[in-house]
Amino acid sequence: MNWLNTLRSKVRRDILLSKHTTFKIGGKADFFVEPINLEDLRKLLMIAKDKKLRIFIIGQGSNILVHDEGVRGIVVKFNSEYFRKIRLLYNCLKVGAGVKLNEVLQFCLKKGLSGLEFLIGIPATVGGALVMNAGGRWGCIGERVKEVKVMDYNGNIKKIKSQDLRFSYRYSNLRRFIILEVLLKLVKADKEEILKKINYFLRYRKLTQDLSYPSAGCIFKNPKGLSAGELIELCGLKGKTIGDARVSLRHANFIINQGNASAKDVLSLIDYIRDKVKKKFNLDLELEIEIW
Ligand SMILES: Cc1cc2nc3c(=O)[nH]c(=O)nc-3n(C[C@H](O)[C@H](O)[C@H](O)COP(=O)(O)OP(=O)(O)OC[C@H]3O[C@@H](n4cnc5c(N)ncnc54)[C@H](O)[C@@H]3O)c2cc1C
Repeated sequence: MNWLNTLRSKVRRDILLSKHTTFKIGGKADFFVEPINLEDLRKLLMIAKDKKLRIFIIGQGSNILVHDEGVRGIVVKFNSEYFRKIRLLYNCLKVGAGVKLNEVLQFCLKKGLSGLEFLIGIPATVGGALVMNAGGRWGCIGERVKEVKVMDYNGNIKKIKSQDLRFSYRYSNLRRFIILEVLLKLVKADKEEILKKINYFLRYRKLTQDLSYPSAGCIFKNPKGLSAGELIELCGLKGKTIGDARVSLRHANFIINQGNASAKDVLSLIDYIRDKVKKKFNLDLELEIEIW
């Protein structure tokens, strides 16, 4: 395909997505592109439109289950230096979509900026965290957002101010855009205090989540006022295994890949859990993860 040569970006073919997801599951993507800058990203979108190729944006792949057959189209990852910058503007941080949350927190600690500590340990990029409004019981990233710079799929860039942004439980109205950069509002604080908070949240995460095996974090959203994990546990499903996919013994809303789980194993286990929860509680569990 000679269009590959018209881009300055890193373009690869037939890339295994199991290497780009925290589940360590997933077949090949036809194309895997790491745009070098905005101009090249725009060019890629035009090519995709012209060749009728679907675009998939991937962050850390920590909320995605990719089918064993892989995806047909172009997977885009913001891995180049251009999308991985962090800049300090008074008490605000301008952060590229490809920066990992843990890198943002390291920067905050160095500069004495507080407000994001609860995000420590979430294996996300800033782009993926914004789309999912990542967070937990102590807050979500959306609460700290002042402005987001996005590109639409026609290549137009715009800045969306906080009053036009909508964030709620694992939801944002950013999904139809490509997120390029975010402006986060933080507060000055003592570095020792920031470190204490980070360590506290890390300890809590290690106690409550199953981090010993590859996973995609929580599989289902919590139904209003309820815990999906508790419902699954009450169905006696902790430890339930299909193929190499298993309901975690530590956190029943986690499915872990014990080594060689296929997407088919995980999807069968998801169906099994949903069926049991429906029968016992007459509730339909909604997926938190995305299936590609
Ligand atoms: C061990 C573990 C623990 C976890 N704990 C938590 C937790 O405590 N709280 C929580 O909320 N989540 C948690 N998660 C889930 C996951 O980390 C979050 O949903 C995270 O926000 C996903 O970020 P990502 O960069 O991996 O995005 P991906 O999974 O790669 O993508 C998620 C979605 O975002 C889109 N996307 C990614 N980048 C962009 C971009 N630049 N522009 C447009 N769209 C984009 C993708 O297309 C996809 O639709 C956990 C996951 C794991 C594996």
